[in-house]
Amino acid sequence: ALAVSLRGVTKAYDNGVMALGPLDLAVRKGEFISLLGPSGCGKSTALRLIAELSAPSSGIVRVARHEGDVLPGHGIGFVFQEPTLMPWASVRENVRLPLRLAGVPKAEARARADEALASVGLADFADAFPRELSGGMKMRVSLARALVTDPDILLMDEPFAALDEITRFRLNNDLLALWRALGKTIIFVTHSVFESVYLSQRVVVMTARPGRIQADIRIETVEP
Ligand code: ADP
Ligand code: ADP
Repeated sequence: ALAVSLRGVTKAYDNGVMALGPLDLAVRKGEFISLLGPSGCGKSTALRLIAELSAPSSGIVRVARHEGDVLPGHGIGFVFQEPTLMPWASVRENVRLPLRLAGVPKAEARARADEALASVGLADFADAFPRELSGGMKMRVSLARALVTDPDILLMDEPFAALDEITRFRLNNDLLALWRALGKTIIFVTHSVFESVYLSQRVVVMTARPGRIQADIRIETVEP
């Protein structure tokens, strides 16, 4: 079954910039794919179209949803390069916010936030504030916030690009373990060939703007 399908999708911004496509891309449920391509080729645009944060100029974007999910963007978790945490709120409050906005009662939201924090290795930091955390830890909080609603699809836009190499490698390993444990569909935008090959089962390489697919490479992993 497909999680995401883009058919003949283009995006022209109001200023006339043709940012994307036509792009054809089908992502199966549970797949972990990387989108690799030069700066400005439309990778972020593609993620925003999938998240329904913006509408295509032409073509069709289809996203598989749970029965009954009607709100735009529901069933999708988004992680950006900037963790964008609320500085005045504790780590737990930051993570439970999407649940509170969805009307989940406080106690349940708190329990699920703590569970999400444990899954990213931050069980002991629920009461901390963002300023007390390192860049890698803030990214983990951002990941917990994206996972707390239990989305089927995780969109990640160069999430680890600003981190030092060792922190980045640790996060790569933890993200892989999470993907294996949770079985979510992940679409991961990166500039790093290493990261794309290390993390994903499939590397989709895009051309320069307007981004089209240049190569679609399956990565065969030999299970130990
Ligand atoms: P990438 O993520 O691959 O770096 P983007 O999707 O961010 O590429 O951008 C693709 C192109 O569209 C770039 O030339 C960028 O400047 C342009 N662009 C992105 N967002 C907007 C916008 N809101 N309005 C106008 N142009 C935009
Ligand atoms: P990145 O390189 O990290 O992908 P960008 O510079 O492409 O970041 O985009 C950062 C933000 O600025 C995005 O929200 C994008 O929509 C917006 N943006 C990018 N290019 C333009 C543009 N030419 N005009 C208006 N908004 C833009």
